[in-house]
Amino acid sequence: MNRRGFLVQSAFSAAALSSLGRPPAAKAAEPPSIFEQVRAGRPLEGVDAIDAHAHFDTISGDLIWPLGVDMLEADSRRCGIGLTIVSPFEGFMATHAGQLRAAHDACVEAVAKYKKSLRAYLVFQPHLLKASVEEMQRALDPDSPFVGFKLHGAIDQYRADGPNYQPVFEFANEHGLPVLYHQWGGLERVASTIPKYPRMNMVLAHLGLWTSPDNLGTYLKALPNLYTDTCSSVLPYGRLERLAAEAGARKILFGTDATYLAVGPQIAKVAFARISEEEKRLIFGGNARRIFGSRLPPPG
Ligand SMILES: [Zn+2]
Repeated sequence: MNRRGFLVQSAFSAAALSSLGRPPAAKAAEPPSIFEQVRAGRPLEGVDAIDAHAHFDTISGDLIWPLGVDMLEADSRRCGIGLTIVSPFEGFMATHAGQLRAAHDACVEAVAKYKKSLRAYLVFQPHLLKASVEEMQRALDPDSPFVGFKLHGAIDQYRADGPNYQPVFEFANEHGLPVLYHQWGGLERVASTIPKYPRMNMVLAHLGLWTSPDNLGTYLKALPNLYTDTCSSVLPYGRLERLAAEAGARKILFGTDATYLAVGPQIAKVAFARISEEEKRLIFGGNARRIFGSRLPPPG
């Protein structure tokens, strides 16, 4: 070793020794890990948590459970989620243009009420094509509360490669807007469609609604603009870890499906997964920050 190498190595050794010699009090000041926070039953703290898949519902009333936006807000903030992106159930159920418009009006009102913590998706219904195409423009309004689109392929029984989805894909591609798609009809139809729209990021809801064989990881890895989200009422043991290993945690977004599902267990499945702290931070919010960009309000 030459003199320079010796000096550099000595400096590193000295630094390493001095960090070893730190009093234990310095270590105790470290913030608790996400796992520790959630295991202690505390809200997420110091985590930029963004729920990229939630709903509110006013047409069902409070018959079964209050599903309105106030309940969503209360539960999400209580658990430490800083920001929620919603789509209105009324939008999926709309049977004419007026109902679709009203559902989106309700989103505008909700976001105005919770400006710091709420944003919305425009619902695009392939069977209400003319109305849906007209409504798309609302994403371009100044200070629009709409940060992307929600397509419910299962309710509409509509496949990703069907012609009526092409207008929204073209629009999303042109304006760089993400699309949350509850897929129906098979992942291969998604895979054959989205490479045509490279500026549109598509998030497959509910971990792609796994099918056998489970090949979501392969598709996520192969398609740069394909993502998935974590919300589901069930999750096979180890699946989140497997997906993160196969495709990378940067392809997975946190979602709750609240108010239909409770917020706590959806946080827990990410917090308790056997993945790194850094991977958890990507899933909880880092990926949504990157994908939605300046359309989201700043953290905190
Ligand atoms: Zn949903």
